[in-house]
Amino acid sequence: MKIINEKVDVLVAGGGTAGHVAAIQAGRARVKTAVIEAGTMLGGTMTSGGVYMPNHYYSPQGPVVLGIAWELYKTSMEIEGLPIPDYRKRRPVENPGYYSYINVPLYSAVAEAAAVKAGVNIHYHEFIGEVKPDGNVWEITSFGRGIKRITRAKEIIDCTGDCDVLRALGLGVLRAKERQPGAYQYKIEGIDYEQIWDEEVQIMYKEAMDKGTIKKGDYAYLDSLPFKYYLNHGGHNGTHVYDADTSTADGQTRVNIEGRERMLRMYKFVRTSIPGCERSVLKYMASHGLARETYRTKGEYIITKQDFLNAVNFEDKICNAFNYIDMHNEKTGCDVYFHESREMVPVVPFRALIPKGSSRITVAGRIVSADRVSLAGIRAQCTCMAMGQAMGAAAALAIKKGVPSREIDAKDIVALTVEHGACPIK
Ligand SMILES: Cc1cc2nc3c(=O)[nH]c(=O)nc-3n(C[C@H](O)[C@H](O)[C@H](O)COP(=O)(O)OP(=O)(O)OC[C@H]3O[C@@H](n4cnc5c(N)ncnc54)[C@H](O)[C@@H]3O)c2cc1C
Repeated sequence: MKIINEKVDVLVAGGGTAGHVAAIQAGRARVKTAVIEAGTMLGGTMTSGGVYMPNHYYSPQGPVVLGIAWELYKTSMEIEGLPIPDYRKRRPVENPGYYSYINVPLYSAVAEAAAVKAGVNIHYHEFIGEVKPDGNVWEITSFGRGIKRITRAKEIIDCTGDCDVLRALGLGVLRAKERQPGAYQYKIEGIDYEQIWDEEVQIMYKEAMDKGTIKKGDYAYLDSLPFKYYLNHGGHNGTHVYDADTSTADGQTRVNIEGRERMLRMYKFVRTSIPGCERSVLKYMASHGLARETYRTKGEYIITKQDFLNAVNFEDKICNAFNYIDMHNEKTGCDVYFHESREMVPVVPFRALIPKGSSRITVAGRIVSADRVSLAGIRAQCTCMAMGQAMGAAAALAIKKGVPSREIDAKDIVALTVEHGACPIK
């Protein structure tokens, strides 16, 4: 096995939704940055995971997340020749969401090119195993095929989605007994929607459930949304995997196998039983199954449901977190809670991205320090990317000032992200 030593200022652990933006921001702020990513491309859940719907760049009041996240989205849309949706024209409906879709191959290639241009060292197919302090630097050991890399970094941003770095360091993490179901992403195409009758397919779905042809969770939304919803989306984002825990290789393997079993069962049912689906094709399958939550950071502050729903304007806010609470569960499929007023935009405080009692390490993404319910709103992709940009900026400022990131003023973090195109926060 080849042993490689690398010295950087900032190590981004995980190049997923939050991590790719964190790495680009740190690189653009001209500090030496590396990202170690277990998968094969940047973007994580939003690219290889198949959840290609980043929420929300805009609220009904205007932009809430711009910066690097918006730039990569816009660039990939432009390459594809697609117009950027005019978010101002959205009608006032109950759901305040402004949905956007990315093209996974284009987006991941655009993100990778931006990271390379920013001078970020990208290391794919490597898992971070061990992390330990060595004086004022971190020593991070990662393993890839034929490689053991020892990275020495002054600052780490844990963007692993499962608190891998915090757990390796023995820092505090939160974990609930009951967790939201995970999922497996795939897409069925070639459905002849003119042949689909809502009432008829609802009856067929119920009969298939009663007979055991398909199982609870194969269709995620059970009784909360009619079965036509599944067909309308070609099954995409429509299958749950209960008790999904991707924080270990064994857990990930279980989610992959169960997710694909569910996908096969549903495709067979749809193609052979539902008029209009005879010529449907199983066209797309993500590379791996997903968890919505595993471990969360025990941070200097834990965001609560009340904080989120009341849109508390924290003094140390570093980015917006506009979304509704999207709480998936095994009983109804999904429960959704909206803010009282469409004008409310929650924010993320810097303290929720600093592990309690730690120094020179921050987190970004769905491992933000939050209670379960508020996390079901904060974990949206645009918020994860905005947290990533903010923590990339915090780490860069820390390196330049020669102090730990926790000592950086939140206002200076926001100022640097705004210099790099991010939305000013109200
Ligand atoms: C089924 C599902 C549907 C969703 N729907 C939506 C939606 O419609 N819109 C929306 O905005 N949000 C949605 N979300 C939420 C959102 O996608 C996630 O909360 C968000 O993508 C998480 O980002 P992250 O950066 O924390 O983690 P990820 O994007 O998962 O990134 C973590 C990265 O870290 C890497 N990694 C992990 N451990 C290690 C290690 N030890 N060493 C090296 N690399 C490592 C992983 O390979 C991965 O690339 C959904 C989530 C799920 C699961």
